[in-house]
Amino acid sequence: MKTDIEISQEVDLLPIKNIAESVGLAEEHLELFGNYKAKLSFSAIKELEDRSEGKLILVTSINPTPAGEGKSTVTIGLGDALNKIGKKTVIALREPSLGPVMGIKGGATGGGYAQVLPMEDINLHFTGDMHAITTANNALSALLDNHIQQGNELNIDSRRVIWKRVVDLNDRELRQVVVGLGGAIQGVPREDGFDITVASEIMAILCLATDLENLKARLANIVVGYTFTLEPVTVSDLGVQGALALLLKEAIKPNLVQTIYGTAALVHGGPFANIAHGCNSILATKAALKLGDYVVTEAGFGADLGGEKFLDIKVPNLKKAPDAVVIVATIRALKMHGGVSKNELGKENISALVEGFSNLHKHVENMQSYGLPVVVAINQFISDSENEISTLKELCERINVPVELTSVWENGAEGGEELAKTVLQVIEEETANFRTIYQSGMNLEEKIEAIVTKIYGGNKVLFSKKAKNQLATFHKYGWDRLPICMAKTQYSLSDDPQQLGRPADFTITIRELVPKIGAGFIVALTGDVMTMPGLPKKPAALNMDIDSEGNAIGLF
Ligand code: ADP
Repeated sequence: MKTDIEISQEVDLLPIKNIAESVGLAEEHLELFGNYKAKLSFSAIKELEDRSEGKLILVTSINPTPAGEGKSTVTIGLGDALNKIGKKTVIALREPSLGPVMGIKGGATGGGYAQVLPMEDINLHFTGDMHAITTANNALSALLDNHIQQGNELNIDSRRVIWKRVVDLNDRELRQVVVGLGGAIQGVPREDGFDITVASEIMAILCLATDLENLKARLANIVVGYTFTLEPVTVSDLGVQGALALLLKEAIKPNLVQTIYGTAALVHGGPFANIAHGCNSILATKAALKLGDYVVTEAGFGADLGGEKFLDIKVPNLKKAPDAVVIVATIRALKMHGGVSKNELGKENISALVEGFSNLHKHVENMQSYGLPVVVAINQFISDSENEISTLKELCERINVPVELTSVWENGAEGGEELAKTVLQVIEEETANFRTIYQSGMNLEEKIEAIVTKIYGGNKVLFSKKAKNQLATFHKYGWDRLPICMAKTQYSLSDDPQQLGRPADFTITIRELVPKIGAGFIVALTGDVMTMPGLPKKPAALNMDIDSEGNAIGLF
C-alpha cells in the first residue's frame, strides 16, 4: 500500500490558473505562489459578490477514535465525485497546523486518492498564513507589554492580562512562563503562557471576518485584560487594530489549490474544533459558494464540536445554513465505541458494532435537531467485512437515515459516486429548515446548558467558583448575547475522553470562561482540555526527512 505522500508525489498537477479557470476565475484575480498555489485577490472577492450562491454540504463525523474516521478524505472525495458526475463543485477546508503535523495526528490534506495538493506545502508552511497570524498575535503581546512598561496609562493590572503569546507547534514547556525578568529595563515581570496558534483569537477572527473593515472592527474588540478597577481593556484602547489588520492583509485572502482529481479547493484558516470554533474562513466558504454550484466543507472533530460550532457560530456569520449534513463513520471507529481495543479492530465483531452505533445515532439525532437533512457516509476500510457493512447499513435504515458506503480513499472520485448521488437526492427532496440549538437572547449559562443537554446528552452543568464569578461579571459587561464556543475533549460526547459510545447521566464541569469578544464568542473550558497540546513519546517528526533533490519524505 502506498503512503499518502507517495500517492501525492505521483500526480501531475495542473497549473493553478487552469483550476481557477475551471470555476470561472480569471488569472488576473490570482496572486500566485509558484505554479500550484494561489491566493484570491481582493478584486476577485469583490467581483464574486454579485454571483448567486451554490448549495452547501457540511461534512462532520462521529467522535474520533485512534482508529481514524477520514473526514477530510471523505470531504475531498465527495467533492471529486460530485464533479465526476457533472456537478460543478468546490471544496472548502481548513489549513493544517504544524502542531499535529509534527505530533501524533499527521496532516490534514485527506488521504489515499482523495487529497488536496501539493500536500507537503499545504501541511508545512503553505502560503504563510499561520506565520502572519502568529506574528499579529505576538505583536499584540509585545505592544501590550510595552504599554505597561512605558507608564501604563490604561492602568492595566498585569496580573489580569488574559492575552497570551502563541506558536504553531505542540510545545508543552511554554504553557506557563514568566516574562519580563531581568530588571527595570527588561520589562514588567508577569505570568504569561503560550497557546498553539490555531487557538489564537486572531485565527478565529480571520476565519469569521467578512471583509477588511469587519476584520479591523473585530480586532479592535479583542479584550486583552482588565484594569486595576476590573474594567476590560481592548485592542482599541491600545490603538493598534490598524497595525494588526495590516499584518493580516495577505493572510485574509483565501488560498486556492487542487485535489488529485483536479477539483478546486479553497484551503484557508485552521482553528481546532476542540479548543476553538473549528471551521475554515467565511471568506473561503463564501467564495466557494459563488464559484461552485455545490460546496463541500468540513468542520473539525465530531459533530458535537465542529458540527455544533459550524451551526451555532459560523452559520449566523455566514448567513447561509448547510443544505445537507454528511456524517462520516467508520466500522473500525464504531467498534471502538462499542468497546473493542485498537489491536483487535481487524477482526469482525458485529455485537461491538451494534453497541458502538449508539455514538453515530446520537450525532444523527443532533444534526437533525437543527432541521437539516442528514446522510451517513461509511468510509470503507479494507478490513471491513461484508457482514459488518450490511449490519451498519441496516442499523441506519432502522433509524431512517440515508447511508452510503464510500471508498474514495482507495478509488478516488469513483469511490464516492453513490454517496454524491444520495446527497444530491436528499438536497433535492428534503428541505432544510435550519434553527440554532440556542437563541442569542438566552444568557451564557442557559446556552451552555442547551449544548450540554441537547447535543452532548448530559444531565447537568456544574460551574466552578471561578466560572460562576465570571458569569456574573460577563453579564455586567453585556457579553451574555454572545454564542458559546465549548472547549471539550473530541473523543467523547462527555468531558471525559474515556467515555466512548453514547454516555448517559453525566455532568459537564465548566472550569473557566475565556472572553473572545473580537471573535464574538465566549470559550467555556471543560475537563482538562489544553489550549497548548504536547508532543507524544514518538512524534511524527521522527519519520520526516528531505532527499537531496528537495522531496519531502515520511510526512505520513
Ligand atoms: P480526519 O479528517 O477525520 O481527521 P483524515 O481524512 O485526515 O481524517 O484521515 C486520517 C488518516 O486516515 C489519513 O492518513 C488517511 O490516509 C487515513 N484514511 C482515511 N480514510 C481511510 C481509509 N478508508 N482506509 C485507510 N486509511 C484511511
